[in-house]
Amino acid sequence: MTDFTMAVDQDGVAVITWDVQGKSMNVLSLEGLAELDALIDKAHADDAVKGIVITSGKDSFAGGMDLNIIAKMRDSVGDDPAKGLFEGTMKMHGILRKIELGGMDFKTKKGGKPTAAALPGTALGIGLELPLSTHRIIAADNSKAKIGLPEIMVGIFPGAGGTTRLVRKMGAMAASPLLLEGKLNDPAKAKAAGVIDEVVPAEQLLARAKEWVLAATDADIIKPWDQKGYKMPGGAPYHPAGFMTFVGASAMVNGKTKGVYPAAKALLSAVYEGAMVPFDTALKIEARWFTNVLMNPSSSAMIRSLFINKEKLEKGANRPEVADARVQKVGVIGAGMMGAGIALVSALAGINVVLIDATQDAADRGKGYTEAHMDKGIARRKATPEKKEQVLGLINATTNYDALKGCDLIVEAVFEDPSIKAEVTKKVEAIVGEDCIFATNTSTLPITMLSKASSRPEQFIGIHFFSPVDKMMLVEIIKGKATGDRAVAKALDYVRQIRKTPIVVNDARFFYANRCIIPYINEGIRMVKEGVEPALIENAAKLVGMPLGPLQLVDETSIDLGVKIAKATKAAMGDQYPDGEVDEVLFWMADQGRMGRKSASGFYAYDDKGKRTGLWDGLAAQYPVAEEQPDLTTVQHRLLFAQVLEAVRAFEAGVLTDIREGDVGAILGWGFAPWSGGPFSWLDIIGAAYAVELCDQLSARYGARFAAPALLRQMAEDADEFYETYGDGQAVA
Ligand code: NAD
Repeated sequence: MTDFTMAVDQDGVAVITWDVQGKSMNVLSLEGLAELDALIDKAHADDAVKGIVITSGKDSFAGGMDLNIIAKMRDSVGDDPAKGLFEGTMKMHGILRKIELGGMDFKTKKGGKPTAAALPGTALGIGLELPLSTHRIIAADNSKAKIGLPEIMVGIFPGAGGTTRLVRKMGAMAASPLLLEGKLNDPAKAKAAGVIDEVVPAEQLLARAKEWVLAATDADIIKPWDQKGYKMPGGAPYHPAGFMTFVGASAMVNGKTKGVYPAAKALLSAVYEGAMVPFDTALKIEARWFTNVLMNPSSSAMIRSLFINKEKLEKGANRPEVADARVQKVGVIGAGMMGAGIALVSALAGINVVLIDATQDAADRGKGYTEAHMDKGIARRKATPEKKEQVLGLINATTNYDALKGCDLIVEAVFEDPSIKAEVTKKVEAIVGEDCIFATNTSTLPITMLSKASSRPEQFIGIHFFSPVDKMMLVEIIKGKATGDRAVAKALDYVRQIRKTPIVVNDARFFYANRCIIPYINEGIRMVKEGVEPALIENAAKLVGMPLGPLQLVDETSIDLGVKIAKATKAAMGDQYPDGEVDEVLFWMADQGRMGRKSASGFYAYDDKGKRTGLWDGLAAQYPVAEEQPDLTTVQHRLLFAQVLEAVRAFEAGVLTDIREGDVGAILGWGFAPWSGGPFSWLDIIGAAYAVELCDQLSARYGARFAAPALLRQMAEDADEFYETYGDGQAVA
């Protein structure tokens, strides 16, 4: 395997080309790093070499470090992982620092060999950290290219000197959005921001880099931070301006992350502490904090769920082996909130859409959603009028079912009423071809029951979108009892076309996501009934990484929907129904006319513009706050276990057949504490034995809903971990 090759031209410029075979974009592996190291040594040692250009054999430079390596790094560096990780990181620093010093005599700062980075396109993560260690970063004028350090999005931070170098190059304030938000720029913007040095036409890229290298003087290759009297742009933390930056950044990070994302805090610490010491010490500090983050199980869990497994699911990890089933023409029945969104995402993917509603007005309104979306895109310069016309041209809004001829997929999104859905199913099947797959977007009705209306139940499936369709990344695919492989493949290929992430589950009440999120909401409401301070409930949820507290969530989804679901569930479960206490609160709220955000009144109060102004203080008159309040951790455990145990039960019952889907689905579907990597990852982090201990305590105090499922208890007894046992997608035997 050769990722890096080197050729010295007649002018004495050594061109090192990064070109990982078999990959569309370069990623750095440990072997690749060793190759680069050896080539740098060779170039520095060769008197015929005057300077170095590092470039790529692809139309991009590099996508970053291989995340598979990072996710497993902690387990692969021997018995003392912290030491191993620190040393490994310092080795990487050593290689990049070698490029930066170019073999110069550090005292006289003379005799170094210049290195330029020539970036043909996208340069992310280590793909930018490496260029930052060179003396000149020249990028091709490629507006599609993305340049930046997105590590924070993966739960780590730039640990190959990127943090220290960028802050010293730009100042902490200017570097903040790039480091703390992982903001990416195109080359022109990256140049304007001072991340890179030059943008040139693509065809001149290599020649310009060589030219720079050949003309570079000793002074050109001394980094500002290696010069006497270097001052950090914007001021170091002990200067008044710098001080303000750090106070603000620290407050912002804590406000945004609520302290649950270790990487953001570690990044800020590395920047702050590194700013006060010489460069090489700062690199060491960066390496220590980087090690600290990698040692935290949260980072590997996040990488595993949010990148590695998410991608595997998107690429069809659970796709049956049947022929390519990409959708050519989709029929969307019902142009309401969901149907309109489904039509939009389908047309954006270039799929022909027939959008049907009961009246032409309703169908047109549904298409209008796409129009408004494209207009917004044009205003934000993300779309063009031509693109708008093209996308709108793909949507045929009509009441005429005949237009469905030729559709290979139908997505039904009419009212949540079995008889209306049955009627629509029959009407559609009378028109479409025999091979057409019929999907329903129902959120609560069993797929197997709905499929009874179909003459081809093996072609009947659930494709459950989340609202708002264009923003939510998860799509839950639900197999009814009779659903066949072709339907599953069609649904998966469609989800891939519209660039969302699928999970495939079996048919059961509320499928997977809603099954877990309802107990979360219910637990919050139950606590209101018990007299727990609502602010404690909401803040406990946010402090454990939930995007919305349970009371805010029910306000958002609407109290009357909660009432409707409660009534339907009770009717279905009869005496087994466990949530009477919750319903009392919910029904009372509905009786007060407080339906949540849509009525600008719910568990929260809202102003005239519909903006939340705080928790509603009238709640205490009906549900007084108890004198004695539970501690924060107990509230958090109740809220987390309410969801997590339901996920385990879904897995145990075979509704969920792959814990990777359980974790990815939880984070993308309802925002389950992303730092944890998902419910199953969280259980692995705390360990099954401790989880069972907590369940025993919670169930003794609060009821049987917290009883540990048999599977979890067994895992505790066997000292097993979910990912060790089921991490490759094995279902429960
Ligand atoms: P909606 O009321 O906004 O839209 C339903 C649309 O279907 C309306 O425009 C209505 O005119 C149309 N319709 C009704 N009967 C029809 C018929 N016979 N032929 C053609 N059109 C007909 O509802 P929605 O929120 O878009 O929900 C639609 C479906 O999606 C429901 O099954 C719902 O459970 C499910 N769902 C909703 C959400 C959500 O958050 N709203 C999320 C996931 C799934």
